[in-house]
Amino acid sequence: LEEKLLQSQKMEAIGQLAGGVAHDFNNILMVIMGYGSMLRNDAALAAPHREQVDRIMDAADKAAQLTSGLLTFSRKQVIKTQTVDLNDVIRHVEKFLSRIIGEDVQLRAVQAGHPLPVDIDANQIEQVLVNLATNARDAMPRGGLLTVETSLQRIDAAFVQANGIGEPGPFAVISISDTGVGMDDQTRKRIFEPFFTTKEVGKGTGLGMSIVYGIIKQHSGFVNVYSEPGIGTTFRIYLPLSATSPLAEETLRDLEQPRGGSE
Ligand code: ADP
Repeated sequence: LEEKLLQSQKMEAIGQLAGGVAHDFNNILMVIMGYGSMLRNDAALAAPHREQVDRIMDAADKAAQLTSGLLTFSRKQVIKTQTVDLNDVIRHVEKFLSRIIGEDVQLRAVQAGHPLPVDIDANQIEQVLVNLATNARDAMPRGGLLTVETSLQRIDAAFVQANGIGEPGPFAVISISDTGVGMDDQTRKRIFEPFFTTKEVGKGTGLGMSIVYGIIKQHSGFVNVYSEPGIGTTFRIYLPLSATSPLAEETLRDLEQPRGGSE
């Protein structure tokens, strides 16, 4: 418990720092890109200079992607929420996810038997799934199985405290499991830090998981990671069930029904 709290305080501090730097850096980039595009639109610009300006603009674009990732991590990006069934979001990205993981990895999607209304920015949650699927693919170079499963879980006060999150209550859960290389504890503790990567130079930016972290936090949710080297990794993403949707009543009735087995 202590360790989890320390961890979330550390992430909070990194978020503040990264967000501040990214914000100021972004303003500088806007100046570079603004004058760059003026130059680019100048008909009198000679061919060799045009190429040089293009290089500058390409580099500025890459830098803008980095700052955008950092801003998402530090929750400085605004989200537009709508009430949607989380099962529909999974259905919507299923094809796209199987394309990401390639032919050697099998995708198994299992949806909860009841609606899971959540107030989310669906584009952002799709981004989360894409980032997780990309990492899962990288963790299974010789193929394997990716399981995406939705469920409903009542979160109690003790769990909330242990994870340093908002309010107890019903949560929609997406669990994403791979049968890949897994991680040791040392790596697992650091995956949400911006720029942390174990991949070769040029292969990974180390921002994918930070973006996941920021988006889920922005949705008042949280992410848990379970991993075992040589066995695989499971991410569990918790999003609060929408309090306003009439669908939630039906789903909550299901939750009250005692079911066999527990998590
Ligand atoms: P990147 O993918 O660019 O390295 P990420 O932030 O997405 O950056 O991931 C950080 C690190 O977390 C990865 O380099 C890897 O070590 C670890 N990681 C993330 N997802 C998985 C996974 N599914 N299996 C094993 N390791 C993972």
